[in-house]
Amino acid sequence: MRINVLGVGFDNLTMAEAVAEGQRLLNTAGAHYVATPNPEIVEVCRESEEARAAVNGADLVLPDGIGVIKGAAMLGTPLKEKTPGIEFAGHLVEKMAEEGKSLYLLGAKPGVAEEAGERLRAKYPGLKIAGAHDGYFQEDAPVVEAIRQSGADCVFVCLGAPKQELWMAKNGEATGAHLLCGLGGSLDVFAGRVERAPEFWSRHGLEWFYRLCKEPSRIGRMMKLPLFLVHVKQEKGRRK
Ligand code: UDP
Repeated sequence: MRINVLGVGFDNLTMAEAVAEGQRLLNTAGAHYVATPNPEIVEVCRESEEARAAVNGADLVLPDGIGVIKGAAMLGTPLKEKTPGIEFAGHLVEKMAEEGKSLYLLGAKPGVAEEAGERLRAKYPGLKIAGAHDGYFQEDAPVVEAIRQSGADCVFVCLGAPKQELWMAKNGEATGAHLLCGLGGSLDVFAGRVERAPEFWSRHGLEWFYRLCKEPSRIGRMMKLPLFLVHVKQEKGRRK
C-alpha cells in the first residue's frame, strides 16, 4: 500500500528495494514508468488533477528528497528513506550494464543527452546507449518513433515535472520500452554540466539550500517547500 502525502501515493521502499523493483519492471512485459516527486511536485499535484493522475499512475513513485520524508513522518506515516531519482537512476544503470540492456536518453538542451550517454557508457561498460534526443521538441510522434526504432529497453525522460510524467503516461506504451523514468534535471548532472550538492549538504537535508545558492532563480519554485510544510501541518490537524 502506498503512503499518501497530500494526495500523492509514495511507495515505501529502501533504495535497494526500489532498484530491485525497477529491474523487475524492466524485465516485465508492457510499459511501466517511475516518478520521483519532491515537495514542489506534490504541490503542483495539489493544484492539477491531470498532474496528480499522471504521477499516481506511475508503477513506482519514489520520494526524491528529504522534504517528502519529513512530510510523511509529520503525518504519522513514515517512509523508509529518501530515494532521489538521480541515485536510483545511477544504480539502475549499473544493473542495466550488467544485463546488457539498452537505454535511451530524452531531455535537456541540445547536446546534453548525447554527452550524458557518453559519460554513462564510459562509467558503466556494457551499457548500451540506444539513442538520445533533446527535450525541446514540438511533436511527440517523431520522438516516440525514434525511441521505438532504437529498440531501447529503458528511457530516461528528463523534461521537468509534470511535463515528463504526462509524457510518460501518454506515450510510454508506444515507445516499446519496458521502463521509463522521469528524472528532471538528471541528464544535466550525468553530462557533468550541473553539479550535485556535496554529500555534507544532502546528509543534513540541505541539498535544496545548496541548489538555491547555485541557482538563485529557483527561489520562486522553492517557495513551494514552505507551502508544502504548511499544507502537511493542516493535513495533520485534519487527520487527528
Ligand atoms: N527540459 C526539457 N524540456 C522542456 C523543459 C525542460 O528538456 O520543455 C529539461 C531542462 O533542460 C532540464 C530538465 O528538463 O534539463 C528539468 O530540470 P529541472 O531542474 O527543472 O528539474 P527538476 O530536477 O527540478 O525536476
